[in-house]
Amino acid sequence: NTHLPKITIIGAGASGLFCASLLGQQGFDVTVIDNGKKPGRKILMSGGGYCNFTNLNIDSQHYLSQNPHFCKSALKRFSQWDFIELVQRHDIAYHEKELGQLFCNEGAQSIVAMLLAECQSGQVNFSMQTELLDVFATSSGFKLTTTKGMIYTDKLIIATGGLSMPKLGTTPIGYKIAESFSVPIVPVRAGLVPFTLQPTLRDHLAKLTGIAIEAEVAVKQQCFKGNILFTHRGISGPAILQLSNYWQMGETIHINLLPNIDLPTFFIEQRDQAANQQLKTVLAKLLPKRLIDCLIQLQMIVDLPLKQLNIKQQQSLITALTDWQITPNGTEGYRTAEVTLGGVDTNYLSSKTMAVKNEPNLYFIGEVVDVTGWLGGYNFQWAWSSAFACASELVTS
Ligand code: FAD
Repeated sequence: NTHLPKITIIGAGASGLFCASLLGQQGFDVTVIDNGKKPGRKILMSGGGYCNFTNLNIDSQHYLSQNPHFCKSALKRFSQWDFIELVQRHDIAYHEKELGQLFCNEGAQSIVAMLLAECQSGQVNFSMQTELLDVFATSSGFKLTTTKGMIYTDKLIIATGGLSMPKLGTTPIGYKIAESFSVPIVPVRAGLVPFTLQPTLRDHLAKLTGIAIEAEVAVKQQCFKGNILFTHRGISGPAILQLSNYWQMGETIHINLLPNIDLPTFFIEQRDQAANQQLKTVLAKLLPKRLIDCLIQLQMIVDLPLKQLNIKQQQSLITALTDWQITPNGTEGYRTAEVTLGGVDTNYLSSKTMAVKNEPNLYFIGEVVDVTGWLGGYNFQWAWSSAFACASELVTS
């Protein structure tokens, strides 16, 4: 249709593919440009290869942004139920793992195949192994410089994602384009990422590598319950990844190693059973032995017979176990992060259409925008919802 504008989408990731399929199916001339060999590389790696494509409990409170209201409209207009319906229409089998997280039964490839089938039915064009280098405004649209030459387009949708997992070919071009059109960037940093520790503590805790326990972790007012995992570099696990989104350099995190136990009652029961037991033996009923040894070495716990434990000592023992305070010396950074916090400042975008307020033919969708979700399918849902908002605007305008 020659009357419809030519649309170019940068990024064949989650948001770019979905947006392309919606627009293609409405008859637009859509081209997706991506620097990789194959579309949807991050989707293929996601959710341990099974793609946690959404969450049953999508809520704006599970997203971080300088403007916490920005994501609401898009999430409402294309919700988790809408994406689930699409998945069902493609006969993709899925299951809920925990906390409302939905994963594919057969692997992440089924989501990529679904998106590509949707793109195919919209006759979307692809230009793979093509890197966008620069964008210039023209009188009627944009001129794009790419590694495969110049491209002219009426509408430009930036879906270039974040900076996490650099080996997947991430680039900061989205942020650069925003700035060149006077749209500021909220400072970016790695999110959903393990913590690293200062060397002495790291070496102590390295003995615990591979141990996972259910804990409650907190920083400031934010608290998450779930597994924490000791690694040879520091601490990881779902609860820690969640916490990393809220942590700033220099802040102390609080770990409750026994969130499900009433410790004073437990010690009374143990004293009644056998007051001669060593504390170490008693604690081994609750926590891995290696962890207890480590806490003793760190002088957080003193091992003595239970009957010698006085009230004051018991109180400080309980504090050590329920409020272990650690100050990480950093995170593992983009190399292992699942997302990038910060990004295109939402104050400069329309929350209904994802268009730049002063540049109505330019759109930003997905992770490049300053909207970051919790672990658990929230980031993909943002990719789907923001892509839908953008596509709906172009269809109706
Ligand atoms: P992306 O999917 O990252 O796509 C961006 C695309 O743009 C890429 O293909 C990139 O190559 C391309 N690009 C970048 N720069 C250029 C350029 N200059 N020229 C051309 N092309 C360019 N989220 C969940 O919700 N559930 C999960 O289970 C989950 N698991 C994850 C596991 C891992 C290991 C990682 C790293 C992330 C995971 N995420 C998960 C996060 C999720 O993958 C992202 O939030 C989501 O992919 C963002 O979609 P997007 O379309 O914005 O960007």
